[in-house]
Amino acid sequence: MELTISPLALPGVEDKRPLIIAGPCSAETEEQVIDSARQLADNGIKIFRAGIWKPRTKPGGFEGNGEKALPWMQRVKEETGMLTSTEVAMPRHIELALQYGIDLLWIGARTTANPFAMQEIADALKGVDIPVLVKNPVNPDLELWIGALERLNAAGITRLGAIHRGFSSYDKKIYRNLPMWQIPIELRRRMPQLSIICDPSHIGGQRELIAPLCQQAMDLGFDGLIVESHCNPDAAWSDAKQQVTPDVLEYILNLLVIRDETITTENITMLRRQIDELDDNLIDLLAKRMRICREIGQYKKEHDMTILQTTRYSEILDKRGAQGSLVGIDAACTRQIFEAIHAESVRQQLEILNRAD
Ligand code: PEP
Ligand code: MN
Repeated sequence: MELTISPLALPGVEDKRPLIIAGPCSAETEEQVIDSARQLADNGIKIFRAGIWKPRTKPGGFEGNGEKALPWMQRVKEETGMLTSTEVAMPRHIELALQYGIDLLWIGARTTANPFAMQEIADALKGVDIPVLVKNPVNPDLELWIGALERLNAAGITRLGAIHRGFSSYDKKIYRNLPMWQIPIELRRRMPQLSIICDPSHIGGQRELIAPLCQQAMDLGFDGLIVESHCNPDAAWSDAKQQVTPDVLEYILNLLVIRDETITTENITMLRRQIDELDDNLIDLLAKRMRICREIGQYKKEHDMTILQTTRYSEILDKRGAQGSLVGIDAACTRQIFEAIHAESVRQQLEILNRAD
């Protein structure tokens, strides 16, 4: 299905600056909302975000204040002039958000993954002219992401955009959500007229990763950023580790280098980003390998086995050396890499063996 997209017509996109949406993960109290919003507005932010309804993995967490928090968003609008935005996940949320003058809606990752919910949302938006940003689904499925956009478009929503927030995965890793940049890049190729913005907060999951992720998104040609920013991040009721103060956000945004040129796959910056991502993956894989080695170490300890099983070691070196040659990597190089990996595995297993438990 061909999408009919019209410009988002939001402040920030028109004058070559990236579109910036910022605000806390959740609207916690009236004071926290107003305080965060004032500081952001003073730093030139034009669109405020705050979660009113929070989808939580398990019951018992803070699930948002719901309708009670909507007048706080109205105050933000009146007192700072910023536009307001929030996540909606069901028709009732849309009805309330519109009633309280929310200017921009976004669909959360868990909702995008559910076609039934998406259809209900699309039906509830029939005849409404409001910009809607669709986060990628939690699982890396481009078609599901596009399907959600199509449902909204078929309901008459043309001010559409996408938010890349990374993809869930089971393994422990550097990022909270794997970026898998190739997926939003493919979305851009398929729908060049669609604005795609990046959510470094949910991709990174920690403050230190916000700045490099924002820069990476700009280098990859994203149209904007949605960043979680809270007046007192450590005290946040949700996603505390990944939120930054409005002043830190300002610092991060000021340091951003926005390049003019259109980046192609031949561009060296783009290639370097790919290298960085592959290196991240290598580290994740190594961490996973070490974890399994430690489990083997535990087994060896329980069964009184020696750490070094020489036949197994030679088998690994020979097999990997041969595999490396097949893909054009010098066998000696592969050997060296695996010798180093093996040495670290042995060190970790010895640690387990010598632990008094
Ligand atoms: C959020 O933006 O706070 C949120 C819940 O995000 P996501 O849907 O990406 O998990
Ligand atoms: Mn959040």
